[in-house]
Amino acid sequence: MTGAGISTESGIPDYRGPGGLWRRDPDHEKLVTIGYYLADPDIRRRSWRFRRDSPVRAAEPNAAHRALVELERAGRLDRLITQNVDGLHQKAGSDPERVLELHGNMFGVVCVGCGERSTLDEALDRIDAGEQDPACLACGGILKTTTVMFGENLSEDVVAEAAGAAERAEVFVAIGTSLQVMPAASLAALAARSGARLVIVNAEPTPYDRIADEVIRDPIGEAVPRLVARLTA
Ligand SMILES: [Zn+2]
Repeated sequence: MTGAGISTESGIPDYRGPGGLWRRDPDHEKLVTIGYYLADPDIRRRSWRFRRDSPVRAAEPNAAHRALVELERAGRLDRLITQNVDGLHQKAGSDPERVLELHGNMFGVVCVGCGERSTLDEALDRIDAGEQDPACLACGGILKTTTVMFGENLSEDVVAEAAGAAERAEVFVAIGTSLQVMPAASLAALAARSGARLVIVNAEPTPYDRIADEVIRDPIGEAVPRLVARLTA
């Protein structure tokens, strides 16, 4: 299971972490809170500009993402649960069928009115052409990225599949996540309770360090390839 920490070495800031954008500008959180987003066209215009200017669009996977592809190819990775919406696991070559995105993905767009699906690129093309808050072409409804915003429910199917993976894991590795947001925190606990060895790779302490079999504080880009080498030996 991966969190924001695996992508910081790809140049994607941890918006919620220490020094993160959301701590410097609490107003920013409104851009990704569904109530504000639906109610206020200005929030939507700012939210689309935030997506357009996001470093995620140009980001490349790093050594840790690539190591997890190796783990999969060695037949040792069952599911890759992620809190990230940056798509870097798939971009690195992870099988999309095995990637469970708890918080969705920012490269898809959905209409909140009729459910019509499109892509971020299509929406940004319209924004570049002068529409600041593009509406659904099918019904005129409000469009949003397929990320799970604050105030929205996670996909029950994704959470259930992640819980199943946690229950059957022999080793559950939590990488670059503070394990303070649900359901990520409960998945680590569920895995440990179900008999998995729990390995935590994170720069900062987490609430689950004391029940972990191993805690690794080294930089993720070095620690994960080393760990994968051990798991595939
Ligand atoms: Zn629509």
